Amino acid sequence: MGVEAILLGTAQDGGLPQAGCYCAQCELARADPAQRKWVACLGLVDRVTRQGWLIDATPDLGEQLHALHDWAPDCSLAGIALSHAHIGHYAGLIHLGREAWNTQDLPVYVSRKMADWIRQNAPWSQLVGLGNIQLHRLTVGGEVELSPNLSLQAVPVPHRGEFSDTLAFVVRGPARQLFYCPDVDGWDLWEHDLRRWVAGMDVALLDGTFFSADELPGRDLSQIPHPLVTDTARRLAGASSEIWLIHLNHSNPLHRPGPERDWLEKQGLGVGVVGMRWRLD
Ligand SMILES: [Zn+2]
Ligand SMILES: [Zn+2]
Ligand SMILES: [Zn+2]
Repeated sequence: MGVEAILLGTAQDGGLPQAGCYCAQCELARADPAQRKWVACLGLVDRVTRQGWLIDATPDLGEQLHALHDWAPDCSLAGIALSHAHIGHYAGLIHLGREAWNTQDLPVYVSRKMADWIRQNAPWSQLVGLGNIQLHRLTVGGEVELSPNLSLQAVPVPHRGEFSDTLAFVVRGPARQLFYCPDVDGWDLWEHDLRRWVAGMDVALLDGTFFSADELPGRDLSQIPHPLVTDTARRLAGASSEIWLIHLNHSNPLHRPGPERDWLEKQGLGVGVVGMRWRLD
């Protein structure tokens, strides 16, 4: 077989280093390229059908696609699923237009609201108009078959929606399933119980944007709500599934080894690293 997922990015929308930021972590990442982090993204491949997919089109799409190709050179890109209309999750579509790759009818899986938004707003509408992408609507809770061995289920999650609603995804292979949820405002706002939901998954990649409430001096966190890592870890401590945090803000101390990471690991959770892979068959 050969149905696998690979982690291709772990940072919040702004990446690490973030434009305009001169905090210690961003400066460190500028000085040492090995410390740079791509924006959260998951790659999927089915080596039987020789296809690959991305979940989210990030500003780092060029590099991430190359990493996916390196890992599975026989698989060509067969589609992209988008979680929502915040820059870290769709802006990479710019690489598909005629100024660049000029793809032909690349399937892009989106919610109804996201499809409407892409169709109605330039420059994204041009990708549809020129046939670079073909929008495929995901129904809430519905499942789409990417290949005979791989399916994707859209799971709505609460997240500030200026332009679109927000989806998380369950990726199902023949034997194992993975939950991918880069952005959510808070677990109590969600219709599912996090602990029970994660218990039904083999692997969960979850929003780890902010470690604690005091890491962004000068910004009002109620305007950019996320569950704090301390809260998520408390809810999931001792869970039997594999749990990795992704979508880390540039300010998050979990980007580097230290007491925060040690604490997280004691709760049984880890920090996602680009190149981590999971077999789903
Ligand atoms: Zn995001
Ligand atoms: Zn910074
Ligand atoms: Zn977002």
